[in-house]
Amino acid sequence: MNLLLYADKTVNIDINRIARGISSRVKGIKCNGGETSFTVPTKRVVYPDTYKQLPKKFISANRKATRAFCFTKTPYDNNYFFEYDDNIAIISLYTWEKLTSLPMNNGALYFILMVISRNLHFGTTHKRTTGCINDFNSDKTAIDIGMRSAYVCPDCIKAFMASKPSKTDNAVFKALKLLLNELSTASRDNIDIVKYWHAQHNTNSFDVFICHNSNDKKEIRRITSLLKGIGIHPWLDEEQLRPGLPWQRELEKIIPKIGAAAVFVGASGIGPWHNQELHAFLSEFVRRECPVIPVLLPGIKSPPELPIFLNQMTWVDLRKKYKQGLDSLAWGIKGSKPSK
Ligand SMILES: [Zn+2]
Repeated sequence: MNLLLYADKTVNIDINRIARGISSRVKGIKCNGGETSFTVPTKRVVYPDTYKQLPKKFISANRKATRAFCFTKTPYDNNYFFEYDDNIAIISLYTWEKLTSLPMNNGALYFILMVISRNLHFGTTHKRTTGCINDFNSDKTAIDIGMRSAYVCPDCIKAFMASKPSKTDNAVFKALKLLLNELSTASRDNIDIVKYWHAQHNTNSFDVFICHNSNDKKEIRRITSLLKGIGIHPWLDEEQLRPGLPWQRELEKIIPKIGAAAVFVGASGIGPWHNQELHAFLSEFVRRECPVIPVLLPGIKSPPELPIFLNQMTWVDLRKKYKQGLDSLAWGIKGSKPSK
């Protein structure tokens, strides 16, 4: 699924941070801020007239997207927030402040999640407002309750399971539930979802677990600081482990929250994965289908033998083309190619 987000000047929506929040949590969904700008070509949003008047350039920029979401506060000639023309949805947040005290960012995420859930086709859409993401919500005033309750009801979970979903759909469903949880937690506390994510990120979320030989510390520090520079949050023992506490227990707590691992091998020789506990932690990443990326550090002659479960993983080579290698590493961690 490939989603593009736009916001015109009338709304206060942080599309890039929302896109990043979704992409980093949902494997199988690529979400980005669109590169062209968006303005509503008519005084009111009218279906299908407004859609027909969108510039050709804008329409072709979105041709490859599964969905393009365009947010505006331009009044809308309908009693709900949006409808589609092909893959484009113009979402009007007209009179938003009269409907809810919650930030528009929370609303933007809610509508995107609603569309993701419709794409998964589970259960029948509820005619009544129950708070489930599968509600029809023909009544705009349900938006406030929707964002605060944001969940998938037991009937819909059952219906989804009964549909024998594919592995990918299963992963998207799991992530959908996680995002709904975060949205409802933030909304109940009247917090902007983007601020909520930011606070979470700073306390307990990491993008990559750094596994290395302590003799390569200098090079590892350089790499982690370069990764931080491009928005990747690495977990490095010396920065995160509080002295005096057993590291195994700390690792057990943090590892389920990390989406990838990188195993660095340098001239100092075979890394620490012979250590049974680390071996178990890395196997845990493989079991969760998170990427485990072996990385060759400058100064090493040839790749050493890896434990069997890491054998099939593609090496990232930092020995000759350092910058290119670092880009591949970032790609492996984030699951999307870094923009040039
Ligand atoms: Zn439901």
